[in-house]
Amino acid sequence: MASLQKGLIKATRDTKTKKHLIALLLSEQDIKKIGISQERLDSMYIAVHVTTSPSTFTSLVDKHDAECILIGVQSADNKHVSYARKKHPCAFIIITHSRTCNNAAARMEAVRDGANMITELDNADLQQALEMVSQLGKDVGPYVCPYCRARDFTQKDLWIHCPLYHINVPNSVQKRRINCCPICMNPHIRSPMMVHIHFKHTPFKNPPFGRPELYAFALVVCQRPSDGKFLLVQEFGSSGYFLPGGAVDHKEHLTTAAIRETKEEAGVDIDLTGVLAIEYTPSMDDNDVRLCAIFVATPKDENQRPKTLPDFESAGAVWVSAEEIPSLKLRGDEPLVYINEKYCNGATVHPLSLFEF
Ligand SMILES: [Zn+2]
Ligand SMILES: [Zn+2]
Repeated sequence: MASLQKGLIKATRDTKTKKHLIALLLSEQDIKKIGISQERLDSMYIAVHVTTSPSTFTSLVDKHDAECILIGVQSADNKHVSYARKKHPCAFIIITHSRTCNNAAARMEAVRDGANMITELDNADLQQALEMVSQLGKDVGPYVCPYCRARDFTQKDLWIHCPLYHINVPNSVQKRRINCCPICMNPHIRSPMMVHIHFKHTPFKNPPFGRPELYAFALVVCQRPSDGKFLLVQEFGSSGYFLPGGAVDHKEHLTTAAIRETKEEAGVDIDLTGVLAIEYTPSMDDNDVRLCAIFVATPKDENQRPKTLPDFESAGAVWVSAEEIPSLKLRGDEPLVYINEKYCNGATVHPLSLFEF
């Protein structure tokens, strides 16, 4: 009880701020399992109240404006959680018993009853959460949390607070009831507010994340069964030969693009038979990524002649043997890589069902 009394004395010095940590644990010693020294805990919170008695817990919860509540005592109906939540709508409530933490159904029930986090005393995530909760609100800012109406957040604190405290608010509730962004004041936010704040109001100048622009391409290794030759496109600007294929259009599937581009660039109708590779290339300097699927195909009709009329798509197309390819001028390495190195060397051809549209 030493820590409890010490906490109470400190709390009377500063009754305005609500940095109380109230813990209901199986033993007073349990607080040591968290791996934060008592001194550190005391510096993080104005008062740290540890009790093993549910009735003392209840009176502590009644008496103090708790910032953070740890509950390590198991009750089948989460009654301590519900009680604490009712008294303190904005508190961060953590359940710290292992059975609940490691049981999928129990975790959902705990969330439903008002817990913000379910973990174990010796989990480093708990240390981190306690640090974060104690740090929030150190700086005073102009923003009110759109979920719990807690006040005085800086942009950075609100950005941290929203997912930490409110990750469990169902998306349907978020979209229906929480539409006005406290930062940009836009009253018509249609995505969950947390998502909006996370992406639109990141406090970081160069966010370490973001949604890249995706450019999708489809290329085709098309082989003629009768003589084993491959279809190559004679590209624009005398740039050399390349696999038929190109960029995927709006609202188009990869497979459709592969078939369309082969017809446009090479004048040949094809049947796709498999997938040789999927390349995913994040660009190092820009915020974009390239996704390219390389398909295997056969011509629908071997007698259909490749295109020879020059147009915007290409100068024409031609059937070549794999042996010829290394001696040709190529627009890029892809014909060598995908025909000679992979396909002709027995690389696995995956079924088209790899893509489910
Ligand atoms: Zn909140
Ligand atoms: Zn906004």
